[in-house]
Amino acid sequence: MEAVYLDHAATSPVHPQVVEAMLPVYHEVFGNPSSVHNFGRKARRILDEARRTVAKSINASEKEIVFTSGGTEADNLAIIGTARANQEKGKHIITTSIEHHATLHAVEYLESEGFEVTYLPVDESGAVRIEDVESSLRDDTILVSIMMVNNETGVIQPIDEIADLLKNHQAHFHSDIVQAYGLMKWDVQQVPVDFLAVSGHKINGPKGIGFLYIREGSTIESLQYGGEQERKRRAGTENVPAIKGLQTAIALIEDEREQYKENYLRYKQAFLQVLDENKVDYSVNGYKEKCVESIVNISFPGMNVEALLTNFDLSGIAASSGSACTAGSVEPSHVLTAMFGKGDPRTTNSIRFSFGLANNEDNVKDAAEKVSQIIHRLSD
Ligand code: PMP
Repeated sequence: MEAVYLDHAATSPVHPQVVEAMLPVYHEVFGNPSSVHNFGRKARRILDEARRTVAKSINASEKEIVFTSGGTEADNLAIIGTARANQEKGKHIITTSIEHHATLHAVEYLESEGFEVTYLPVDESGAVRIEDVESSLRDDTILVSIMMVNNETGVIQPIDEIADLLKNHQAHFHSDIVQAYGLMKWDVQQVPVDFLAVSGHKINGPKGIGFLYIREGSTIESLQYGGEQERKRRAGTENVPAIKGLQTAIALIEDEREQYKENYLRYKQAFLQVLDENKVDYSVNGYKEKCVESIVNISFPGMNVEALLTNFDLSGIAASSGSACTAGSVEPSHVLTAMFGKGDPRTTNSIRFSFGLANNEDNVKDAAEKVSQIIHRLSD
C-alpha cells in the first residue's frame, strides 16, 4: 500500500534542490556571519544573497527582511513587537477569530498585558467583511492583523482592500501570508502592508526558518535580547544553512508558482470528482471560488473527525483537521466554529485535504477512492 500525503498545509516535502543547496553550506561554511574573518565573511555572503532573493520576491528592500525561526516567530515579532513599541499611541488591536494560533495566542498574551483586542467575525464562507474592519477601527487602534489565506479552509481574505482602508490610519497592518506565499505573487509596493510573515516549510523549504517583512519606518521592538543581528530586530546567530534552503525554495517558487497552481487545482478537482462519482455525501466548507488551489476543507455529514483520521491513516492517507484531537474527545475547530456557529456538526466532521509536491493525479484519485470506501463503510 502506497501512502498518499494530503497534508501539505501542515508541512511540505523539502524539494531535492533545496537539500542539495543546503548540504555544501553544512559541509563547508561554518563561520558565524557576524565574524569579521574570512570564515565569517563567507557565511555573511550567503545571508546577503538569500536576503536579496527574499526581498526581490516581494519587491521589498533587503533592509526590510528579518530572518526568523518560522511563521510563528514572524507573527509574534510583528504583533508583540508592534504593540510594545506603539503602546503610548493606543492599546487597541484588531484581528479575526480565524487566525492561526501564532496570532491568536500572541494577542491573547497582549490582552493579559492590558491591550484590548477586537476579534472580527467571518461569514459562512469564511471571509472577513471589510465593513467590519472599518467599523471596528478606532483612534487608539495600533495594529490590525489579518491573515491572507486561512490554513484550515484555504479561504482568501480581502487583504488588498483592508490595506487600502488602513492607508491613512496610524494602525500598522500585519498579514500572515504563510499559506498564501507559495501560490500568490506579492508586491509590497502595490499593497501597503507593514508586516508579512512567511514560513519556509510550507513552500518546500526547510523547517525552522521563515522571515518577517518589516516596512522601512515601522516601529517595532525586538523580542529577543542579545547580539545585533538582523538590524537589532532579531538577536541570535542566523541559521545559515536553512536560510540558504529558504532562498532556494523561494527561487523555485518564483519559477514554478503558476505550474504548481495549475497542478494543485487539477488535483483538487480530480479528488472531488471521484467523491462525486462514488456518490459520497459531503460539502465543501468555505468559498469555492475564493480559495487557494492547494486546500479543500470537506464536511462529511454523520462522521466524526477522529474516526475519519484514524481510518484514513490505516489506509495510508495523511490528512488533517483543524480540530484538536485529544484521547476520547474532539475539540471543535475554532475556524469552522467562527464560520458556522458553536455546535454546528461541520465543526467536528470536517477534514482538510491539501495538495502539493508529493502528489500527482493518480495518487490523488487513488486516495479519493479510498476516502469514498471509508465513508461508505462508516455510514453503514
Ligand atoms: N501561520 C499559518 C497560517 C500557518 O499555517 C502556520 C503553520 N501551521 C504558521 C503560521 C506557523 O508557521 P511555523 O510552523 O513556521 O512556525
